[in-house]
Amino acid sequence: MYDYQRDFRRGESEVRGVLGTRALIEQTVRSMLLEQERGVQLRSAAPVAGLLFEGGGGSKQLTGVKLKGGEVLATDLVVDASGRSSQTADWMAAAGLQPPPKLMVDAKLGYATRFYERPADYSGPPAALVGGRPMFTRGAVLIPVEGNSWQLILGGYAGDHHAAGRQAAQRHQSLPWHQEPGRCYDKVDMPEGLVVMGDAHAAFNPIYGQGITTDVLQSEALKEAFQKRAAAVVDTPWTLAISEDSKWPIAESNYEVPQTAALLRPYFAALAVAASQDDAVFAEWARVLHMLKPPTAFFSPFMLLKTLQYAVLLPFLRRLPLVGRLFPGAAPAVPAEPASS
Ligand SMILES: Cc1cc2nc3c(=O)[nH]c(=O)nc-3n(C[C@H](O)[C@H](O)[C@H](O)COP(=O)(O)OP(=O)(O)OC[C@H]3O[C@@H](n4cnc5c(N)ncnc54)[C@H](O)[C@@H]3O)c2cc1C
Repeated sequence: MYDYQRDFRRGESEVRGVLGTRALIEQTVRSMLLEQERGVQLRSAAPVAGLLFEGGGGSKQLTGVKLKGGEVLATDLVVDASGRSSQTADWMAAAGLQPPPKLMVDAKLGYATRFYERPADYSGPPAALVGGRPMFTRGAVLIPVEGNSWQLILGGYAGDHHAAGRQAAQRHQSLPWHQEPGRCYDKVDMPEGLVVMGDAHAAFNPIYGQGITTDVLQSEALKEAFQKRAAAVVDTPWTLAISEDSKWPIAESNYEVPQTAALLRPYFAALAVAASQDDAVFAEWARVLHMLKPPTAFFSPFMLLKTLQYAVLLPFLRRLPLVGRLFPGAAPAVPAEPASS
């Protein structure tokens, strides 16, 4: 490695790199995906030509994607991983949404790539890197790739692009690379159902070799964020369900019902008495069970008072001889709790 105008020492390192062409990496990832994940369908040669949104104002929901040719795919979630040519910011702006601010540092870098056959008797260093710096605008990377080949990448900063790159570009062997911006999607209100990641989110100078690792870490973050949010969604209905089921003396469980849930059981039983007699209480009760309202709605002053009225006060009054005669009919009692397992 030659960088900062000096030759670096060669030595052992525990850092391991995987070297290969883009075609090999893509093919490997695709095969692994299809082998490991059921229900995945790949559509080739189906470029996305637009995103479809629904709703007004700043709170739009993404409902699907439009393919070139007009076909519409309805979706709940779109993950834009279309690289640095991503058009999501433009499509958001066209839909009346605030597009993410752009961040850009363009060192006017240009790349050209060529492949060479690796000599069978070659015994030198496995790879080479010459760093481009402001005092020396040219850089190069030589790496061994599959097919007994060497991949040579020549780079030039400050517009000092390699002549071989320009010629090779005409033969479709090179890709001029221009610094593309990072997009601050975290600074705007994102529509529901849209995630932007990979180079579509932020593309760096490839010389640092960080793009794919950053993408993998973003995928991990997506999974983690999903799992954390999924756990938060599941938490309440699950706690409600298991605190009810664990009441059964025969219930088998390896889960310790929280003390608070056990303490609240008598209140929920009393609440059921109120819900069985009062339409407004029942409606609120149903809202919580169907997750339209959080369980805290069970403890609003209205619900507390109604529960007191129907489960405590009225049964008590109805037991008084005079009131019992005025309001005949059995006083509904709070159901008795079976012994917990
Ligand atoms: C010369 C060079 C060398 C590099 N070397 C390294 C390296 O050594 N290590 C490293 O980690 N990174 C390296 N990188 C960076 C790395 O390639 C990227 O970070 C990585 O490929 C980004 O992955 P991505 O999936 O976000 O986007 P991409 O890999 O760009 O994939 C985007 C995909 O979306 C498709 N697409 C685009 N628009 C649409 C559309 N409208 N509809 C449907 N599909 C669409 C494209 O065809 C493409 O297949 C290098 C980059 C370059 C240019």
